Amino acid sequence: MKKNILLIHTGGTISMSEDKTGAVKPGEKNPLTEEGQILSSLANLVVEEPFNLPSPHITMKNMMILKEILERYDQSSGIDGAVITHGTDTLEETAYFLDLTLQTKYPIVVTGAMRSSNEIGSDGLYNLISSIRVASSEDAQNKGVLVVLNDEIHTAENVTKTHTSNVSTFQSPQFGPIGLVTKQDIFFHHMPSYREKYEISASCKQRNVVLIKAHAGMDASLFYAIRDLEVNGVVIEALGQGNMPPATVPGIQALIERNIPVVIVSRAFNGIVQGVYAYEGGGKQLKEMGVIFSNGLNGQKARIKLLVALDRTNNMNEIAEMFRL
Ligand code: ASP
Repeated sequence: MKKNILLIHTGGTISMSEDKTGAVKPGEKNPLTEEGQILSSLANLVVEEPFNLPSPHITMKNMMILKEILERYDQSSGIDGAVITHGTDTLEETAYFLDLTLQTKYPIVVTGAMRSSNEIGSDGLYNLISSIRVASSEDAQNKGVLVVLNDEIHTAENVTKTHTSNVSTFQSPQFGPIGLVTKQDIFFHHMPSYREKYEISASCKQRNVVLIKAHAGMDASLFYAIRDLEVNGVVIEALGQGNMPPATVPGIQALIERNIPVVIVSRAFNGIVQGVYAYEGGGKQLKEMGVIFSNGLNGQKARIKLLVALDRTNNMNEIAEMFRL
């Protein structure tokens, strides 16, 4: 029997077309809305289009709107699953935000495309069909927000965009996908081990958490500038296991003295940061200074998590505990 699927379009390449000059852009009409016949053969669709934005234009405000729509449909029963179409550039951030903050009972799948609707080899409609099939699957329950592209099913927590243009851009480094889409079936071969859920308030979208990347020879100037901007939190993509160039240390110290939480992830996209090295700027020293070490999230997702954390608490130990999970 066909399932009832909530389909939310938000924009991105999947909703764009290429013009004669080769430029890809949104048009008057979302091309996905013209695929009604094919899509309605898969499920009974309820379609929402709260905005039509390239994903670099997506903000926390848009993510909150999506959360509200999904919660509204959860209460008025009858929906068996949801699919969100989204630009791929920030797709993982929206998916992870929803994963952390939604308590909804039905499966939620986020998808996008690397080639716009009228390009040869366009992957948009295909990914959308796969996503509706996954959202309709009983086996997709209780796995958190899923990301489906290119026949693979990933968790929002682990997936990341790894390639600027390739259709297999979405990967879960270190973990791999948790399932596969085939012509006839949906196969899950892993179960995510732990699902965190946090209640958040509307003020989540007002906070400012910045993300910066460490490099050889970096000094403290950027950290002093950030401190003076009075941001609410800082995420640093540090080196290796969580180390920083020695000249950055006084700047990081200045942030901590202002009570601004500093979360460390690694610019290496596999593995977990730990306070191992005891030299100047090494992870051990940073940890002793009060820097919070994250548990394998990438920088952009640690930023989302810090925004969610700051909505609950300013207590450094409580924030650190959230990043240990
Ligand atoms: N720049 C586009 C966006 O994120 C890319 C895409 O949709 O895949 O909206």
